[in-house]
Amino acid sequence: MKRVTIAKGDGIGPEIMDAVLSILEAAKAPIAYDEITVGKEAYEAGHTSGIAPEDWDIIAKNKIFLKAPITTPQGGGYKSLNVTLRKTLGLFSNVRPCRGYHPFVETLHPSMDLVIIRENEEDLYAGIEHQQTPEVTQCLKLISRPGCEKIIRYAFEYARANNRKRVTCFSKDNIMKLTDGMFHKIFDEIAPEYPDIKNDHFIVDIGAARIADTPENFDVVVMPNLYGDIISDITGQISGSVGLAGSSNIGMNYAMFEAIHGSAPDISGKNIANPSGLLQGALLMLQHIGMSDIAETIQNAWLTTIEEGLHTADIYNPQVSKQKVGTKEFAEAVVNNLGKKPNHFAEASFPKNSAISVPEPVRPKAKKRELLGSDIFVYWEGKNPDELGDKLAEIGTDELPLTMITNRGIKVYPNGFDETFCTDHWRCRFMSATPITYELIHKTLEICHKNGIDIIKTEHLYQFDGVKAFSMGQGQ
Ligand code: NAD
Repeated sequence: MKRVTIAKGDGIGPEIMDAVLSILEAAKAPIAYDEITVGKEAYEAGHTSGIAPEDWDIIAKNKIFLKAPITTPQGGGYKSLNVTLRKTLGLFSNVRPCRGYHPFVETLHPSMDLVIIRENEEDLYAGIEHQQTPEVTQCLKLISRPGCEKIIRYAFEYARANNRKRVTCFSKDNIMKLTDGMFHKIFDEIAPEYPDIKNDHFIVDIGAARIADTPENFDVVVMPNLYGDIISDITGQISGSVGLAGSSNIGMNYAMFEAIHGSAPDISGKNIANPSGLLQGALLMLQHIGMSDIAETIQNAWLTTIEEGLHTADIYNPQVSKQKVGTKEFAEAVVNNLGKKPNHFAEASFPKNSAISVPEPVRPKAKKRELLGSDIFVYWEGKNPDELGDKLAEIGTDELPLTMITNRGIKVYPNGFDETFCTDHWRCRFMSATPITYELIHKTLEICHKNGIDIIKTEHLYQFDGVKAFSMGQGQ
């Protein structure tokens, strides 16, 4: 008997969780449950991250967590439970399989069958944001080498274990050459280790357009956090309904399984929600804990129910559906079909050993790091960049001169364009051609401060093994 943690969540959560548990029980899945309370009730009890401290112990003990959707309270002061769970438990990989169930579920993409693998811990979701000046806010995008290695290796291992033929990488490395550039570069490093699997790369904008247009041309697609968040919702929606897809969040030691949709407060308590998304999440869980045969039995019963035309309201279509059923009745139909095989769809066949593990990334030998200067960010309400530039140029020295000023990335000094719109946020680059000491930067900062320059922050400019590791100004 395997013990897993469950949480029924908010909105439609309890209805769909009860439906899913009734199917697991009827299929005799050897699982025992420890239930915890997350979401609205926990937030209201004063736990700002949506979970009571003692419930972490249960999650830690069982390692496997099946979670219904929760309602994230609006307004400040509350933290997203989903982000907290993913990051606290090190669930670096979010896996979302999306396929069509044509002709029983209406979709423009009958043969789509792809898997989005989304990096789950970093990127803009580090949640490091600051208001720096009255006009400008920033959010730090952090991409790490170990983070890229784990998720990209996971994507290839997933493809191999699930008999998939191709892994595609999405990034925006034409613009973000260091962050997305690292993601793409590590993809190119790891791909040759899997000669049995094809690989390719798209810039995320055209990639997203192609996925929305011809999803059937994609197989496994791996991408950084934000792109994965957006694109996996698109693929869920165009497969027929957000109510149909499940997802897994996989880490080195923990795993969490859920539906891709939210708590749907608009239909909660009405017995009309589709429990299929959470059921698909539960089937991913069964595969993960070595119960693939039971997952196959349930999936075959579920496909049979879809083929029989017993459909919940979200996928009900009078032309193909036979009967509109409620959440409970749908689950009962799946239970009645346990042991049956689908006629139209291929029988379910899940890999037998699908708990995929990837090695801890090895830290590469540290490179030689040398300091070349500093980007000094300044709050200044003036309008003419030459005025600020001339003042700072005098502060610069032969050893550490002012080399440029940018405003939101675009070079405005020296030789800017009058037309460039400027905010109150200026990045002033003091840089030397050869390595310098930190003391020199410190001295420059002190002189800036004494001359009334309002410094918001600094970002140091390094070269690693002689290669400059910072972006140029746009137009530089
Ligand atoms: P949602 O996914 O809850 O609902 C979007 C639309 O899809 C609604 O019209 C809803 O009725 C429908 N829908 C969703 N699931 C369905 C199902 N199983 N059967 C039939 N129809 C279904 O998205 P939302 O309305 O943007 O968010 C509601 C709440 O859920 C918010 O508080 C949000 O923060 C939260 N949320 C939680 C999770 C999670 O816990 N993993 C994920 C997404 C959103």
